[in-house]
Amino acid sequence: MLDRPVNDTSYELFLNEGKIMGTKCKKCGALSLPPRPICISCHGNEMEWVPFRGEGKLAAFTDILVAPPYMTKEGFGRNNPYVVGVVELKEGVRTVARITGIDAKNPEQIRVGMPPKAEFLSKGEGPTRQNSLAFKP
Ligand SMILES: [Zn+2]
Repeated sequence: MLDRPVNDTSYELFLNEGKIMGTKCKKCGALSLPPRPICISCHGNEMEWVPFRGEGKLAAFTDILVAPPYMTKEGFGRNNPYVVGVVELKEGVRTVARITGIDAKNPEQIRVGMPPKAEFLSKGEGPTRQNSLAFKP
């Protein structure tokens, strides 16, 4: 499992298994979530998988009113906004993800510093089921 190649497909496989896996650079130790095949810090390409706990605090967020096509298909848009946030993980890495469990029409109730916990959003069923990472305050 940990010898899976570092790419989006492996990352999605882990998510479907309910695991939050990022990468750690074997040379300088820099962490990344989502995983990257090339280190953003030293540009090394020897990466290994490491599990993330999915805990942290909300560093920034934005209300999305103009949704990309794949979100419009799910009914999101001007009348049904959603929230995307930057979460500062306890591992010291920032990651961008959907923020759920809040009323996107009343963004004033969302506060920077909230401690969200990771959850998985599931789409589809059976073999086409796909998890994506989200955070819920
Ligand atoms: Zn590195």
